[in-house]
Amino acid sequence: MTGQSPRPPEDFTGAPWPADAASPTDRLRAGIRTYTTRDAARLRDHHARLADGQAPTHLFLTCADSRVVPSLITGSGPGDLFVVRNIGNLVPVHDRGDVSVAAAIDFAVGVLGVQAITVCGHSRCGAMTALLRGDDLTPALRDWLIHAESSLRRAPGTGLDRLCRENVHQQLDNLMTYPIVRERVDRGELELVPMFMDVATGTPELLGPTHQRATTARGR
Ligand SMILES: [Zn+2]
Repeated sequence: MTGQSPRPPEDFTGAPWPADAASPTDRLRAGIRTYTTRDAARLRDHHARLADGQAPTHLFLTCADSRVVPSLITGSGPGDLFVVRNIGNLVPVHDRGDVSVAAAIDFAVGVLGVQAITVCGHSRCGAMTALLRGDDLTPALRDWLIHAESSLRRAPGTGLDRLCRENVHQQLDNLMTYPIVRERVDRGELELVPMFMDVATGTPELLGPTHQRATTARGR
């Protein structure tokens, strides 16, 4: 370690904060300065167009893990993704006591009319690790991860990487327990997309198959 932060090229928008900043707030301040001096001007017209409202095509649901950066790994920008993040990228089954994810689904699908819901899991997920090891967790974490037990049952005796991937597919199944999601999928108006990111390489990949009406033809 030299203590020197590599200076990113001018066009590299996904560069991490400088590691040598004095405090967490200084890192935030430095990041804001970088954004306002380098990127904000380029996006000014785009932001102005978005001021009247948003029309994202995707509800993008992923883990809160800091290593997963939705806009970076999807090459998207302001207005593209309606993002929901939580520990383990979980979608609690409909009517099982969670209203946060349910409210986001209602808004994204019912009000914004998104055309796809992407669930993006990732390797080395702390939530899946804790689940697999049966860690002794705080009450809040334990109560939340109850929503992931179906993923564990889906891949019994499996390793971490497989569990992280199966967890994505389980959340897509859970999405189909929401009447508004099932309805739109059945009408061919909504696609459910499984995605995965390898944190060691930063590589995103789309997993198959997707949940969509078999007769849907969109020219692909
Ligand atoms: Zn995670």
